[in-house]
Amino acid sequence: MPIFDFACQDCGKKFDLMISNKDKDKVTCPECGSSQVKQLLSVFNTASRGSKTELPSCSVGCPAAGSGG
Ligand SMILES: [Zn+2]
Repeated sequence: MPIFDFACQDCGKKFDLMISNKDKDKVTCPECGSSQVKQLLSVFNTASRGSKTELPSCSVGCPAAGSGG
């Protein structure tokens, strides 16, 4: 089942749901419950996008976080 990205037109909340294509018309905002949500375009190929190294979440004292401190 595909994952669709949505943005609430009421409060601006962005969220993603894994629903079928026929259920997209009855999506409601999980933040305010509004039905005024707009589907966003999902980006499948992130290779062409700017490559950024995602560091894993570590607590204070992580050697990777200590840069020019
Ligand atoms: Zn909302």
